[in-house]
Amino acid sequence: MKKPRWNERARSVLLLELAVVLPAAALILFNVLHLKSIQRDRAVEAAIQRDFYQVMSITEKHANEKMYALVDSLRQEFPAASVVCTDSMDYMLDQHTDVAHLFIYNPQRNLVFRSRQARIDEPDVSKESEQLQKMVRTWLPTEFEEAVKKMKSMEKKGKPPVFFDSEMVPRGDKHLYSITAYFLLPQREGEADTIGGMQLDAEQLRDHFLPELLNAELHHSTADASADKSGYAHAAMMVRMHSESEPLAASAEWEGGHPEVERSMEGAFPGLVLGMKLRGTTLAALGQRFVRTSFLILGGLSLLLAGGILLTYRNVAREMALARLKSDFVSNVSHELRTPLSLIRLYAETLEMGRLSNPEKQQEYFCIIRKESERLTGLINNILDFSRIEAGRKEYDFRQTDLAELVRNTLDSYRYQIEQNGFAFQERIAPDLPPMAVDREAIARSLLNLVNNALKYSHDDKFLGVNLYRENGSVKLEVVDHGMGIPPSEQPKIFEKFYRVGNPLVHNTKGSGLGLSLVRHIVQAHGGDVFVESAPGRGSKFTIALPVEKAGNGVPPAVASAHGGVA
Ligand code: ADP
Repeated sequence: MKKPRWNERARSVLLLELAVVLPAAALILFNVLHLKSIQRDRAVEAAIQRDFYQVMSITEKHANEKMYALVDSLRQEFPAASVVCTDSMDYMLDQHTDVAHLFIYNPQRNLVFRSRQARIDEPDVSKESEQLQKMVRTWLPTEFEEAVKKMKSMEKKGKPPVFFDSEMVPRGDKHLYSITAYFLLPQREGEADTIGGMQLDAEQLRDHFLPELLNAELHHSTADASADKSGYAHAAMMVRMHSESEPLAASAEWEGGHPEVERSMEGAFPGLVLGMKLRGTTLAALGQRFVRTSFLILGGLSLLLAGGILLTYRNVAREMALARLKSDFVSNVSHELRTPLSLIRLYAETLEMGRLSNPEKQQEYFCIIRKESERLTGLINNILDFSRIEAGRKEYDFRQTDLAELVRNTLDSYRYQIEQNGFAFQERIAPDLPPMAVDREAIARSLLNLVNNALKYSHDDKFLGVNLYRENGSVKLEVVDHGMGIPPSEQPKIFEKFYRVGNPLVHNTKGSGLGLSLVRHIVQAHGGDVFVESAPGRGSKFTIALPVEKAGNGVPPAVASAHGGVA
């Protein structure tokens, strides 16, 4: 009998492990390894670095587009070399606040150069103007042919015919970055090839052109980023010269320090480097935080999973225990039915054959048949009650009752049997108990179940006491014995359906494990409860407590909901 049970349990545990624990453990392990690899390869940092690089390359592209657009509009606006004059150049400078100097050259017309008049009185700007004039005056006549040829071939390839050069313009004892552009003017009827040029206003470039570009790019990117919560939502950008670490210009959020990712600018901004970093944190810290949070979440989920598995395991174990109890119950009940039936048949057959001449013996046999059939009735009543309760169909018939009389009458029909079994019987019923609204039959059955248990589980010290008294707003019905007692660990379980204490002495005593669960259900349906006090080897005391107020005032509140299963 033991072996298959263990096998069943082992199979369930194995199934649970294979079906749930193993995949869960594999999932957790896989995630831990994955997170470890993210941590080891600094994958989060690398991903954000890639994002930063992307943002910077877009920034560079937009910066170039802006600069090429400026150059293109200058190319279109320049009057033909034959008619250009300082007025027309002043007008162009007014239209383009980013530009500080304009010039135009072809060998026929020679150089026409114009600086922004509003700033020409500033010593630095006038020096800058002179330097640029000197440079183009020496460079353009010698390199003109070559430059025009190159620009024409660029134009043929679909590229704008422009060269950009970086310039360091004097500012006090320092220098400031600026950009010069040389471009081929569009071919016009009757005009020789002409090169135009401009130099950006260094302050405009530093204070407006670059910062505005960086801010616009960053806000555009972070607007996208806040939606997908990627790393650069809190990023700042700067631009510096190759040779210097200090920023030339920066976005509004830049708070100093070194950029974490850099990219050299090409095209219209020679010699400049774009840089990006996170505000208030570093990529490494961000990566660590990501891994830490992921580990925490994984830990939490693993705990939940373990909790779920434990709960499932306990549930399965409970269901298995219940199934075992049910199968024990079936064998117990069949055993209990068979014994009285075979006794009844045996004695009835003996009597039927008329062989017994001794009237006392006859009387004894009749008595045995009656007692055995009473036991059968009790057992069948218990089973019927149990099935009604389980199906939620048990109904109680509450009537005003004198409990003292009910208890006395119930015990009277048992007294003879109790005393015949060698029990010392003590009955103490307090006078003046209030009438109670109870289901007479159900309360009598509860009392009989308790008395029966006291008789069944007392072997050496045969004592049975029944007390009925009033205490603290309840009427209490106690059944006391000096029998084998119940270990404390078993006491909460004996009221569960089918439960029997796993003790050889109990095992040898007939029983179904239903009696106490019925008692508890009946008593709770009366708004009361049942308790046990017991010590192994010293006996037990079962107490039914029924509330006076509720029971005395007619139908107790629990009655309305007195349906439902037995726990
Ligand atoms: P059973 O049909 O087995 O007696 P019960 O529900 O009446 O079922 O009792 C449940 C278990 O509680 C019993 O199997 C027994 O182990 C224990 N028990 C109940 N009453 C007593 C008692 N008076 N003394 C010792 N053990 C008891």
